[in-house]
Amino acid sequence: MDFDLGRSPPAAQTALRFVEEFAHRVRTAVVGPATRSDPVAWLVRTHRNIHRRGDGKVLRRGYEVAERMHRGQTRKSGEPYISHPLAVAQILAELGMDTTTLVAALLHDTVEDTSYTMAQLRTDFGAEVAVLVDGVTKFEKVFWGEAAEVETIRKMIVAAGVDVRVLIVKLADRLHNMRTIEARSIASKARIARATQDVLIPLCDRLGVQSIKRELEDSVLAALEPEAHTVLRSWVAHRPEWTAYTDEFIKRASSVMRASKIGARVVSRPHHLYSIWNDTFAKGYDTPYELPRIAIIVSGAENDCYMALGVVHSSWRPVPGRFKDFIASPKNNLYRSLHTTVIGPDARAIEVLIRTESMQRNAEYGIAAAYRFPRRGPGAHSARGRSRRVRARGDVELGAEHLEWLRRLVEWQRAAIDPVRFLESLRCDLAEGQVHVFVAGTRLLLPANSTPVDVAYAVGADVGDRCVAATVNGQLAFLSSPLADGDVVEIHTAGPEETKGPDGKPIGPSREWLSFVRTPHAQLQIERRLGLGARAGADPESAPPVPFPARVRIGRAAISMELRRRERGLASDMPLHTLAAELGYPDVESLLVAVADHVVSAEEIAGRLIEQVDSGSIEAAVAAAALPRP
Ligand code: MN
Repeated sequence: MDFDLGRSPPAAQTALRFVEEFAHRVRTAVVGPATRSDPVAWLVRTHRNIHRRGDGKVLRRGYEVAERMHRGQTRKSGEPYISHPLAVAQILAELGMDTTTLVAALLHDTVEDTSYTMAQLRTDFGAEVAVLVDGVTKFEKVFWGEAAEVETIRKMIVAAGVDVRVLIVKLADRLHNMRTIEARSIASKARIARATQDVLIPLCDRLGVQSIKRELEDSVLAALEPEAHTVLRSWVAHRPEWTAYTDEFIKRASSVMRASKIGARVVSRPHHLYSIWNDTFAKGYDTPYELPRIAIIVSGAENDCYMALGVVHSSWRPVPGRFKDFIASPKNNLYRSLHTTVIGPDARAIEVLIRTESMQRNAEYGIAAAYRFPRRGPGAHSARGRSRRVRARGDVELGAEHLEWLRRLVEWQRAAIDPVRFLESLRCDLAEGQVHVFVAGTRLLLPANSTPVDVAYAVGADVGDRCVAATVNGQLAFLSSPLADGDVVEIHTAGPEETKGPDGKPIGPSREWLSFVRTPHAQLQIERRLGLGARAGADPESAPPVPFPARVRIGRAAISMELRRRERGLASDMPLHTLAAELGYPDVESLLVAVADHVVSAEEIAGRLIEQVDSGSIEAAVAAAALPRP
């Protein structure tokens, strides 16, 4: 049910929808999602339905290359391999992504699984496509061993820091793999589903792409809890009474909106299966249960949301404690909406979400909304130019604050050379929520349960090292007290002549701090100051010596990450050999180990490598800039 008040009557809407759906079916039947004669037609059509000026030619070229390179390869299901990249591109086309992203999707497995090289890809399709494909290309197990998986995630995060579309391609890739997971063995099914749940779904949530997140969660449920999934699917499909109640409420809500002259459409927003499972079976209940839920999408501005809320609350009694204002205090993933629960007809509770059209778009598409609804007119950025700083139309500007967590991750991976440590930080950061706190008039975004010490180190290493006390919202607080959203924090530092804090203990970080700080940044600073950690090797108990091959890999990873951050890459080991000799190391391995051990910094090595190439002392061994400069 979907009423559009103030525009056309419900009957006309329904008729229109019917016609559209029929036309869609005819198109599908005629062209088909992928016909043998023209497998790309459906993709081009979907893309150009959303982006009139989308380039169908380059999509075809991308498909032809991918098809040729993958020819002869099959998926576990027996289908030709090309069906996978084509389906991934289709998912992204439906999401409304730009042409570049779709081309990258078509080619996303070529470099990893075929003889096609990154250099060839860059020549054929340009630097932007190359960055996206490189970002989702796995490191080889042969060379990276155990570290391959973690390093692959780390590489993806770094690439996403340059171009966030890397993550969107990765999510679509995983979504198709989850859709087709039935073909896999039971063991790999569980492994893939868990990894999806662990890292990719939280990432998807951070990017705010609910449309993909819902399906990923449901497919994880299907893989891990097949029976519950089957039960819920049929339960949701067969409940005429629930549906009738929701439809009836939609009618009533529509008419009170109309009576109050608030332009709005009212739609049903059923929960997805995973969310029902999470609220019932996961908590030990043995019958499924779901509150009806509707969304009132106002056609006016933000103010109308509050007017609509007033109308809803005066028509039906609100349930105390259930009102949440995510417009005034938005979640950190672009999601903005008012939430309330009211007692509807027959004394039944019903959830009501209230939002504007643009909030609705952001709720559904998150970061992808910026690509699906690009800004037009003067000052609008072309799809190409926006890759670095994504902007959304309307009231929310993406790319700045909303991707702060991504920037933070990119920073962490530079600080945490140890890959295992990085993955831990990533999991921890994604699993826990985030809080905004204010310090000295600026707003900081930190992982949930961060403490004043985290704030102090976020302000500066020196502030962290010398902090002795903190006030939170004007009250003196423990340095270890977890901070809540909106807290105003003030850090007190010891003066230069003081050696002892108010508690009589010497000033400076203590081991105890390590037990409560949340940010890897603070942790690393404290360890550095105390001379602990894997690098210093001062604490053999907590940090066993890292074996030589691992240090070689870590050193190499650190350098390539640093180069990547500067949008460069190593095309061969030649420059490393030259540099190792120049710096007096017997071989490349020794240089890499020195980097891993922090004897020499990755930044310095990367800087020297780039210098070498730019000065022309080595011809083109470090690939030229992969991306246009910011
Ligand atoms: Mn793939």
